[in-house]
Amino acid sequence: MAALFKTQGMTKKFGQFTAVNKVDIVMEADRVNGVIGPNGSGKTTLFNLLTGFFPPTYGSIDFMGQNITNTSPQHRVSLGISRTFQLVSVFSTLSVWENMVLSTAKVHHQDQKVPWFYFKYAGDSQIRQQCMESLEKVGLSDKVNEKTAELSYGDKRLLEIGIALSMNPKALLLDEPFAGLSDIEIEFVLQLLHELKQHLPIVIIEHKISKIIELVEHLYVMKEGSMIMEGDPRKVIDDPVVLECYWGK
Ligand code: ADP
Repeated sequence: MAALFKTQGMTKKFGQFTAVNKVDIVMEADRVNGVIGPNGSGKTTLFNLLTGFFPPTYGSIDFMGQNITNTSPQHRVSLGISRTFQLVSVFSTLSVWENMVLSTAKVHHQDQKVPWFYFKYAGDSQIRQQCMESLEKVGLSDKVNEKTAELSYGDKRLLEIGIALSMNPKALLLDEPFAGLSDIEIEFVLQLLHELKQHLPIVIIEHKISKIIELVEHLYVMKEGSMIMEGDPRKVIDDPVVLECYWGK
């Protein structure tokens, strides 16, 4: 089976600064892949490259055997690459349901202009069903009519995951999904991810390794833009090189 993501020499420069430096990875689809590293080590830039928000300066990116190096974020969403962001990115003036339908409809009908989406597709039974199923998964089905601005921070993050799930993902990329959540909310998201991983490849960035050690099956460590180590999470986090770079010990 082709790898979920395969990169060769993937590099991203911002002017003279190299944020991601010659990264070669073969990320398998049958496991939860974690990416850790100190702040500023290039984790979010790596996600931006995999999801098409930036083109790489050099190198190539394959998704499930297909070269996607210079394709747009929209194209990658249509291939099944679904992501959440480090900062909450839902439309705060819309309701939970409107946010869901807008995002889901946009995946199905990428050629359309956004404002028309809701009105045109709110009655589409396939989209409604997909949205409802995703909201149930993330525990928000009783909040469909609430304005997103009035949701708790944790619920907004859950809505982001719900939106990502409603896009028929073949891979779910999560950028620090626990940031700002309470312990109870973290437990809920972790349980959800344990269920999702049974049938969906997950790639997760997390600054705090302790949060994901039970979840991830393969761990990548970034430092100053380079991928310095990968492997079994429990072995990787005890490696002296990682301890030195990551924990400063
Ligand atoms: P991490 O997610 O590991 O905290 P980032 O990928 O966000 O790291 O950032 C890696 C480095 O790249 C940082 O030094 C950051 O300032 C820089 N960087 C990220 N995005 C941009 C950008 N759009 N323009 C300039 N520099 C950037």
